[in-house]
Parts: sequence; structure tokens; C-alpha cells
Amino acid sequence: MAATILDGKKIAEQIRAEVAAEVRNMAEAGVRPGLAVVLVGHNPASEIYVRGKVKSSEEVGIYSEQLTPPDTISTGEVLDLVQDLNRRDEIDGILVQLPLPSQVDAKKVLMAVDPAKDVDGFHPMNVGFLSTQRPGLVPCTPAGVIEILERSKIPIAGQEAVVVGRSDIVGKPVAMLLLNRNATVTVCHSKTRDLPGVCRRADILVAAIGRAGIITREFVKPGATVIDVGINTVTDRNEFERFFAGNARREEAFRTKGSTLVGDVHPGVAEIAGAITPVPGGVGPLTIAMLMSNTVKAAKMRRGNRMPELSRA
Ligand code: NAP
Repeated sequence: MAATILDGKKIAEQIRAEVAAEVRNMAEAGVRPGLAVVLVGHNPASEIYVRGKVKSSEEVGIYSEQLTPPDTISTGEVLDLVQDLNRRDEIDGILVQLPLPSQVDAKKVLMAVDPAKDVDGFHPMNVGFLSTQRPGLVPCTPAGVIEILERSKIPIAGQEAVVVGRSDIVGKPVAMLLLNRNATVTVCHSKTRDLPGVCRRADILVAAIGRAGIITREFVKPGATVIDVGINTVTDRNEFERFFAGNARREEAFRTKGSTLVGDVHPGVAEIAGAITPVPGGVGPLTIAMLMSNTVKAAKMRRGNRMPELSRA
């Protein structure tokens, strides 16, 4: 039986509507959450992401500001910029778009962001809060994965969850969030032996690898929930055929654009999974929605107004 498609776009819209309502409530109390995005240089992909973040902020009523220093900037100059944002009271969230140019020490910069304004959730202090189940800011994409599961009423407690990928940005925080919700979690990586066998144990399988369609049917227990975090661009015709042969809609898009997106999960998995996130339109839309949510959360936390969900790290 074909899997239920977990519609990330729809869930992201719900979250954005909830955030917008929250922002309106805060406005009545004279508070407008503010987000500052630092975009160094002219990386085309980063420019697209940042445009999306600024547009989404405007839509939900969050004040947003873009800082665009040149790609010749030094680590010290980026640090000054971050310190200035740390001091400004109307800024609740600071996001430094990665990657930074090679001469800038990215770790130093991320460490300099005030943890209370760290809406990406990358600061070691927030990583520690997450692993010790204290209130804090949780990375956006992993938080989005949990929203998809919970809002789709997929049970987590007691389930076998397998996360493929152990990056600080996706794999590790997803694993920690699932563990905090009482799943039995296994984390896999490039050195894992018998990856298909380990993945087949999963009731919930999360793929955050960055390799087009690597998770095929042999990796998936029939009926499992599959969350595909990967975003990979396919430009090669043979590769396209391997994933989308016979898919008229994709064929049309590939012919006109010369490329299409595929996740880390082969589209054929949808024939045996119980539920699956599509690419595009699955986890992707949640990332910006959770950034909006984190900005509001940061604004409330800084003002000492703790929301009930803050204890759900
Ligand atoms: P990353 O930092 O490159 O980490 C990839 C992880 O996958 C590593 O832990 C690596 O293992 C593991 N891996 C690589 N090849 C493997 C293999 N053949 N078998 C098993 N494990 C393997 O990537 P990331 O930043 O976590 O991102 C992962 C994917 O998610 C990418 O496609 C990225 O574009 C996407 N992403 C999407 C969103 C979104 O908004 N939807 C946000 C962020 C990222 P080792 O640790 O052993 O090297």
C-alpha cells in the first residue's frame, strides 16, 4: 500500500499562522520580536535562503534586518557585528548564515552569539540545554522533524528510531529530540556496518545524509515512517531515470529546468513505507517556520515569559 504523504508545506503554514497570532498578541503588550540575519558576501544559495527568511519574517509580523558585509570581512569584524546585535534590545534572534568565507573562524563567530538570541540553536550552551532537557533554543530543521511527527500523530515514545547522519546541525539534535521523547534511538554514519540491516529495525527512520536516494526499499521496514531531510540536486539524465523514470510531472520539470530535487530517500520507498515526507515539500518548509517560532520563543524567554512548550526540548 502506498505511504501517507506527510505534507510539510501544510504543517509549516499552520506553524506560521500560530506564530503570526503569537506576534499579534505580543504587539498588544508593546513587544515586536526582531530577527537579524548576517549574510557575508554573495553566495547565491545563501542569498536565496536569507531572502526566504526575511520574507517569512515580514509575513508573520516579525521585525527583520539583514546585514550584508563584504566577503573580505575579518573574524574580528564579524565578531564586532555580532556583539553589537547582542547588545541591541530590539533584536531577539541572531542568525549568521553559513558558510562563512574561509578567513572567518565560523566556530568563534557562532560561540559569540548570545545563547539567548541563538535562534539557530548551534551555541554549545543550547546544545547542552537540549541534551539535559532544559529550556533553550533547538535547531530549526530537527525541531521541524519533530513537529511533522507530532502533528501527524506518529507515536514516538517506545518506538525504534534510526537516524542516519550525525552532523551537529541535523543528525545529533534530531537523535536527542527523539531520545527526549522516549524513542529508542540508534545513530548511523559513514562507518556503520550493515546500514540497511540497522535501518530496517526502524519504526521511524530519519535520513540526513546528503546523498541522493541512498535509502532504498531494502533499508525500510514495511509500514515504517520515513523522514527525508536530504536535499540533493539531480542534473544527470541517468541519475534522473534511476529515481523518476515514468514520472511525467518530474520529467516535464527536469526538461524545462535541467535539474530536479531528490532527497536521501529513493522515491520507490513510498511504495512500502507507512508514511513519508516528500522532497521538496517535506522537511524543507519546516526549517523557516521553526526559525520564526524560535524568534518568538527567544523574545519571550528574554522577557522572562516562559511558554509551556519551552520544557519540551
Ligand atoms: P553533513 O554535515 O554532510 O552530514 C552528513 C552525515 O551523513 C554525516 O554524519 C556522515 O557520516 C553521514 N553519511 C555520509 N555518507 C554516508 C553513507 N554512505 N552512509 C551512512 N552515513 C553517511 O550533512 P547535514 O548538514 O547533516 O545535511 C544532511 C542533508 O540534509 C543534506 O542533504 C542537506 O542538504 C540536508 N539539509 C536539509 C535541511 C532542510 O531544511 N530540509 C536543513 C539542513 C540540511 P560521517 O559523520 O561518518 O561523515
